[in-house]
Amino acid sequence: MEKQLMYCNGEWIGSDNPVLEVTNPATGEVIATVPFGGKREAQLAIDAANDAFPHWAALSAYERGDLIRAWYDLVKEHEMELASIMTAEQGKPLKEALGEIQYANGFLSWYAEEGKRVYGEMIPATQRNKRLWVQKQPVGVVAAITPWNFPAAMITRKVGPALAAGCTVVVKPAEQTPLTALKLAELAEKAGIPKGVINVITGDPKEIGEVWLQDPKVRKLTFTGSTEVGKLLMRGSANTVKKISLELGGHAPVIITKNADMNKAVDGVIAAKFRNAGQTCVCSNRIYVHEEILDDFTTKFTAKVKELRIGNGMDEGTEIGPLIDEAAISKVQQHVSDAVQKGAKIETGGNLENGLFYQPTVLSNVNDEMLCMREETFGPLAPIASYTSEEEVIRRANDSIFGLAAYVFTENISEGIRIVEGLEYGIIGFNDGLPSTPQAPFGGFKQSGLGREGGHHGIEEYLEVKYVSLGF
Ligand code: ADP
Repeated sequence: MEKQLMYCNGEWIGSDNPVLEVTNPATGEVIATVPFGGKREAQLAIDAANDAFPHWAALSAYERGDLIRAWYDLVKEHEMELASIMTAEQGKPLKEALGEIQYANGFLSWYAEEGKRVYGEMIPATQRNKRLWVQKQPVGVVAAITPWNFPAAMITRKVGPALAAGCTVVVKPAEQTPLTALKLAELAEKAGIPKGVINVITGDPKEIGEVWLQDPKVRKLTFTGSTEVGKLLMRGSANTVKKISLELGGHAPVIITKNADMNKAVDGVIAAKFRNAGQTCVCSNRIYVHEEILDDFTTKFTAKVKELRIGNGMDEGTEIGPLIDEAAISKVQQHVSDAVQKGAKIETGGNLENGLFYQPTVLSNVNDEMLCMREETFGPLAPIASYTSEEEVIRRANDSIFGLAAYVFTENISEGIRIVEGLEYGIIGFNDGLPSTPQAPFGGFKQSGLGREGGHHGIEEYLEVKYVSLGF
């Protein structure tokens, strides 16, 4: 078993506290330990990032871009190794893990360039002897707290634009998946990113979070995770009025109209639903199918779901890996039994296979009162409900505290545009089950969060606007 250290101020350090064990969810085996950092390490990291900030911010965007690009090159060179680490600690199939590394690396290559396009503005003055302009500057030290479901991409999606903008960062990866994060830090160090610019602290979420929230040197907090913790961090940021970006829960509806291309819809929903065994915040949670095509869709979709192969993510051909832990299994079980009790029919699945492996499951005859239609399942459960009219389905789709991703499948462009415009969601997959990409803005309406990640919108989150009025 490997004993890992964490990365702070260009050094690999331990902590006085006991260690944190990292478990492979496919086997239950402890594969490594990482330091259980607390207040002291959290503070060291902020101080390091704060000391490194002036120099990093003073580099030109081209110089920073070269270093981020060098990091990208190393991640590319080590992508299989990173993917294996990810599968071992997180469980997703190796092919998906490799896909995530490439997606994650996309944020590095994209922001290495986008940093060069942080433009200012000249504003016409009222007086002849004045010149007014706007320039953008990095916000300062950024704290990034990330979840276990995307151990690499949730880090580069934050650190890429932060670094490109000229910010320095302290990162706390999820307890379940620190190894991918530490490997990324090792490659950043190798790429020549100066000490203190990136710091990765593993350990106690509450203690680390508390120190980062309290310290006024942390000027920006960026978080991906549960709505519950997001609200807590938002409240905690108020004392020092930090800028915040939050990517929180979702409850994605899918609308399949009678004008949908059936094959596209089936494949799109499979991709949107079963990626990472249903453990993503943009996974489809509610599938609304027009009543005229309900039986046809349910039959074809169920047939495809039956073909999905469950197994250890390391095994060739695995499509559904284990869930992350027992709590995740309990949540799926609770949603399935609640739905069945309220009249849903299990078309396939519905059982725990063994360990943390839950069968991909399709439920039909679902109604909006069932738990799975209101709360995020975060597992391989696909509930299918029918609808009659466009107005009705848009209303039902919007009847949620969440507003992250939604999907619509139709070949009728007018109908598609009406539905897209009616949906109160930040990301829409229109005949597309996999809309996420580094160059486009990702984020939610309502309680799904604040701010956007990716694209040119993503770098704005790490920039302050400075207005200058020059009199002469
Ligand atoms: P999930 O339920 O998906 O694990 P969480 O919101 O609990 O989502 O976790 C996302 C990230 O937030 C993880 O890195 C976790 O350690 C961190 N976290 C959890 N609780 C706190 C807290 N009180 N303060 C700061 N970070 C926290």
